[in-house]
Amino acid sequence: PLPDHSSIMSGLTHVQRDAARQPGTVVVLAGAGTGKTRTLVAGIADRICRRGIPAHRILAVTFTNKAAGEMRSRIEAVLGSDHAPRWVGTFHGHGRRQLRNDPDIAGLREGFDIYDAEDSRIIVRRLLEEACAAGFEAPDDVTMKQRIRSVSTRIALLKERLILPNDAVRSTEGLIASGQLHEGDDLNAWREAAALYRPYQSHLREANKADFADLLLWPTVTMLRDETYRRDWAGRFDAVLTDEFQDVNRLQYLWLQALSRDHGELFCVGDDAQSIFGWRGASVSIIRSFLSEFPHGRMIALEENFRSTGHILAAANAVIAADPDRLQKTLYTAAGDGAPLDILSWPGGAEEAKGIVDEIARRGLEGVSFDDMAILYRFNFQSRQLEEALLHAHIPYELVNDTAFWQRVPVKDALALLRLCSSLDDRQSDEAFRRMANRPRRGIGAVFMARLEQTSEQSYLSLFETAEKIAAGGKTKAHDALASFTTTIREIAGKVGMPVAERLRMLLERTGYLEMHRQEGDEGKTALENLHELCALAEAFPTLEALFDHAALGSVRDDADPIGRVKLMTIHGSKGLEFAHVFLPGWEDTLFPSTNATADPAEERRLAYVALTRGRRRVSISWCRYRGGRPAAANVFIDDIPQTSRHLGWPRRRVVPNGGDTAAEPVSVFTQSGLRS
Ligand code: ATP
Ligand code: MG
Repeated sequence: PLPDHSSIMSGLTHVQRDAARQPGTVVVLAGAGTGKTRTLVAGIADRICRRGIPAHRILAVTFTNKAAGEMRSRIEAVLGSDHAPRWVGTFHGHGRRQLRNDPDIAGLREGFDIYDAEDSRIIVRRLLEEACAAGFEAPDDVTMKQRIRSVSTRIALLKERLILPNDAVRSTEGLIASGQLHEGDDLNAWREAAALYRPYQSHLREANKADFADLLLWPTVTMLRDETYRRDWAGRFDAVLTDEFQDVNRLQYLWLQALSRDHGELFCVGDDAQSIFGWRGASVSIIRSFLSEFPHGRMIALEENFRSTGHILAAANAVIAADPDRLQKTLYTAAGDGAPLDILSWPGGAEEAKGIVDEIARRGLEGVSFDDMAILYRFNFQSRQLEEALLHAHIPYELVNDTAFWQRVPVKDALALLRLCSSLDDRQSDEAFRRMANRPRRGIGAVFMARLEQTSEQSYLSLFETAEKIAAGGKTKAHDALASFTTTIREIAGKVGMPVAERLRMLLERTGYLEMHRQEGDEGKTALENLHELCALAEAFPTLEALFDHAALGSVRDDADPIGRVKLMTIHGSKGLEFAHVFLPGWEDTLFPSTNATADPAEERRLAYVALTRGRRRVSISWCRYRGGRPAAANVFIDDIPQTSRHLGWPRRRVVPNGGDTAAEPVSVFTQSGLRS
């Protein structure tokens, strides 16, 4: 039986309860930590228990796998797993399900693979190289890398604007003419991307691949074009709910609308002050102009913050107050002031990392669980020094939302072997063959490969099949090596019904891939650890396809851990999460706000707001006087934090510039930073 819905609502305030029970089109627009996500979960429960909507007819969407998982477990906690909706996931996850249902809407066949960013860049590189070979200038490697990155991100952004390949050049010129591409943007880079979009997409189709942006593009475009298709999907749901609404882009917005416009049951929660994905095409104007988009919609505000202490809120409010475009929102807490924010300065990044880790160890000894501590940074690369310090101190940690695992070379190599093995006789495996044919080295050099490519092209056979034929027709060492590689793969491919993990282990062992890393000594150790991790993960997947999808969506399942782990992630990845203790390193002017030409100062400020509002009880900010050999100073956000909410730093110890530790008076940021005080 369904739980009594009054018990679900009992923990909520009146305002939250009213919001959760509100039918029709609703946006809850409220500051961080006011219980938006909690209200959304109650909204789902209310629709199921009180309004009698079947759980499977509810669609709930968030941005990260982590958030989706958390929403699912929160719903299960109130409703029990039997009554939890099936359709809880990310935009891309839902799009993927639609596309798997009808691959032909994207011109694909059943069993298509999903390309991640690196795979896409490999294609773009080939296309650019072809263009260069066709007589354009040959750029050096650095500019080539930049061009590849520029083209692939811009193609994704064009997709998010619903621009289709056949129309790319004309539409892009249209956007340029009407001034819709960001000012100061490199217009020629857009033109280059638009020109390569169509060949890029043809390549994907031929290879039966979808890239990340395709997952949502084609279902949305098809729903807009084909009313029968739209009704088929929209008809499956009676209510659509979405978290983090401030970060939707135009494409996601149209997708939500197409699915909800028949019944108008669209429940959104968000905070415009936390819009931090503009660089990926998110459009904060969608939430800001909600009422003009939905004249019949209701907008509801929540004002009480249940997450953070008074000092943390004072700091966050002061930082966001300088954003001129934000919608005015009040945020208060009934909890006390709590501890002021620690603000520390360090000579350099290594000392900062060590200082933070020492403090984490100290709090650990005082009984704080490592799970309750998180380090949030502006850029991914900042994790390295922190990881080293944590490893050195033997403190368990975890990189959250880290797509890096799936980007690591040995992991991608192993997946390529699986891919190869799953579609030997199909061009779909060519990319994987190119990657793995000579890893470990089998004497299959560039000349041999070129011959293979050429023969394969003429014969319409996949590279793998061509390789089998060529291997059988010669007696050199390369022929033999190739023959042993292809025979091994074919044999393992033939083992129908073999579980994914076992197949993977066998492939890694028998192709000599593991041995290659074993011989590398210390360097190979990390690779072996990653491969070990992958095999363990693979146990959880019933089919290869499920594993590939999971890899492409880039999430790592984290297992419960009794002693807990310190969480490391970018500020972007921390959206929607909360931790009792938060450490924010690198708050110096040369790093954060980002000095990249493309960074938007208002968005950097919102990022600082997101970072501060993750903290429940303690927030510690730090900055370095030198970063990468360059002098630096405290950033502007530190300036904004009210004096009364600051603390001069951890009193126990002080790192002096020569690197030694001394017990001493607190570090004074005011004398060392030249801060106005
Ligand atoms: P963000 O903007 O960061 O996503 P949010 O608005 O979604 O935050 P939640 O994560 O839903 O906020 O809630 C923040 C914290 O406050 C959570 O720990 C939640 O359990 C708690 N909380 C929310 N509403 C209440 C309430 N009425 N009573 C007590 N605690 C609450
Ligand atoms: Mg939330």
